[in-house]
Amino acid sequence: MPHLLNNNMNLDENTEYNKFSDFEFSDSINKGIKEAGFQVPSPIQSKTIPIIMQGKDIIAQAHTGTGKTAAFGLPSMDRLAGTRGVGMLIITPTRELATQLGDELYRLGRHAGIQTVTVYGGNSYGRQISLISRGAQVVVATPGRLKDLLKNRNLKNFNPKIVVLDEADEMLDMGFLDDIKEIFTYLPDERQTLLFSATIPKPIKSLADRILKKPISINVIPKDSDTHEDIAQRYFVIEEYERDDAITRLIEHEDPVKSIIFCRTKKEVDRLSTLLVSRGYAAKGLHGDMEQPQREEVIKSFRKGNIDTLIATDVAARGLDITDVSHVFNFHIPFDKDSYVHRIGRTGRAGRKGDAITLVTPLELKELLHIKSSVGKSLEIATIPSITQVRSKELSRIVEKIKVTKILDEATEIYVALEEEIDSSQITIKAISLLLEKEEVDGPNEIGFTKAQVEKLIKVHRSKGRLGGSKKRYSGRGRSSDQRNRGSRRRSRR
Ligand code: ADP
Ligand code: MG
Repeated sequence: MPHLLNNNMNLDENTEYNKFSDFEFSDSINKGIKEAGFQVPSPIQSKTIPIIMQGKDIIAQAHTGTGKTAAFGLPSMDRLAGTRGVGMLIITPTRELATQLGDELYRLGRHAGIQTVTVYGGNSYGRQISLISRGAQVVVATPGRLKDLLKNRNLKNFNPKIVVLDEADEMLDMGFLDDIKEIFTYLPDERQTLLFSATIPKPIKSLADRILKKPISINVIPKDSDTHEDIAQRYFVIEEYERDDAITRLIEHEDPVKSIIFCRTKKEVDRLSTLLVSRGYAAKGLHGDMEQPQREEVIKSFRKGNIDTLIATDVAARGLDITDVSHVFNFHIPFDKDSYVHRIGRTGRAGRKGDAITLVTPLELKELLHIKSSVGKSLEIATIPSITQVRSKELSRIVEKIKVTKILDEATEIYVALEEEIDSSQITIKAISLLLEKEEVDGPNEIGFTKAQVEKLIKVHRSKGRLGGSKKRYSGRGRSSDQRNRGSRRRSRR
């Protein structure tokens, strides 16, 4: 496709490109890269950019968070600078991803004068159409809305020369395959097509055979290794009835900056978010049944820190890029290894450390061991801390808090009033007790299996080739009486 070649055509796909300057982008694109703070190209960028610049089709496998947006965005926007009309179309599964992509492309391409329009359901057709017709070079779209626009012939002269399918496997899972096939019937044959997907299941492979021309395959998914070195992965074995207390205890002990708790179903998301709110957490649920504006609102308040706990389904949290998520909790074990890897990748972003915590019952342990064998040995067994342990951690936090707390005028007034009746050290001790009262820990003292008990379970599993049964059968660990008198004691978190 000669029309796609530009002055960077001498880049060679067999050479290693380790610097952004190797790509010889225009100054305005380089300015965007510099402002974004990117120092060196990520592996997917090094591998795909030279090929994309040659105008070739690609089929690329990479996990979320590896920098795909810049990988296809930079070389394409470099070419599109100075042109008018839609030159590039990116199809992505969800509105959140579309918005995220649009923001990232704007940031990288603004100095090159690149205009980006995002197109998704739930918003006015008219505005999106007029923005496109005003000469935007890049359109980022979700499949459903884009299909409607094309079908109704709402877009005049819509001939993108570069078409990107982002997170293709996710679009397949969400049932968009037919929409995508239909979309391609409206696209020009003369085009460069780039397909990105974490996995390549059969339907994606046959879609690729239909829409790509002599594609070059790229895979930057590390083999059999721990893909997330910055994420400490632990799992806890519990009985089914202990799940709610286990999650509360762990949040209490870990004290996350921000956390995402994954559930398997929308119903579970609703139930757990109600529960956590009732236990005093600033929590909200996120799933596909919610209206778009509501979902946007939840993500926004999570990003801003108005809430610090997000309870979500896999699909709703796909690709979310929020840098200060310190913890990912798997309230229920994910369906497979890929979804495990995607979930935990929501933490440890932008070079920070993260924690990934998974809850499983003895029956689910087998599935987890399966996941563990494919993600590397860094997934460790751990014991849920007892109330005593959580308390002692909280006490040291309170000490720190007292040291840094700013003095309020009202507090001084109260102190002066009290001093007439009570000795000053008594006032202080009473005030601290008041703080401690608020830090009540929910649930029984001990929750779940100890590390030693889990190791025993695994041994039994290995020797008999199966896992199962209850804690009683294997551990003989008696339950203490406080298991029954758990109360819904309230604690205020902020
Ligand atoms: P993906 O689409 O693969 O999930 P993104 O394109 O959303 O990943 O990138 C993930 C994050 O990494 C973004 O915050 C992005 O700005 C950042 N990023 C991308 N490329 C680089 C780079 N070369 N150096 C540093 N950060 C980068
Ligand atoms: Mg992406």
